[in-house]
Amino acid sequence: MMVGAAMTIPTIILLHFFTNLKLEFSFLFIINLIFLIFLGPLVMDLDHHAGKLREVFTFIGLTIGIIGAIGYMMKINTVQLMVIGIFLASLGYMLCYVTKHRGITHSFAFTVTFTGIMYLLTHNIFLVVIAFISVYSHLIGDSIYFKLI
Ligand SMILES: [Zn+2]
Repeated sequence: MMVGAAMTIPTIILLHFFTNLKLEFSFLFIINLIFLIFLGPLVMDLDHHAGKLREVFTFIGLTIGIIGAIGYMMKINTVQLMVIGIFLASLGYMLCYVTKHRGITHSFAFTVTFTGIMYLLTHNIFLVVIAFISVYSHLIGDSIYFKLI
């Protein structure tokens, strides 16, 4: 997580000042940012912590999903939160049944998939960059520098 934050912040500053992309601190942007920085790196270890982390993750996913659903009913545009919540909850619940420890989640393919989903959901280049760094920093933390699948 610390590696992720240490790499993310300079990257955002560089993108903001040296490209024509400009940061826009909307409510959804901040929620996504917090989610990515704090939960992104944890996503990959869901395949071997069969106990607590998985439960916590499923719970957080459901909570985000419910917040999204409530927002949606109140006519706030939170469909994105709903989708992320459901995605997290099902990922947290199912992942350890289908993969082995440090298997598919600890790969470049997973990083790209995760980043791709983030792009589809947000269309925000900053969040995409942060998503990539936050999950990739986990691989670096595990000393896996490049593993395709
Ligand atoms: Zn790991």
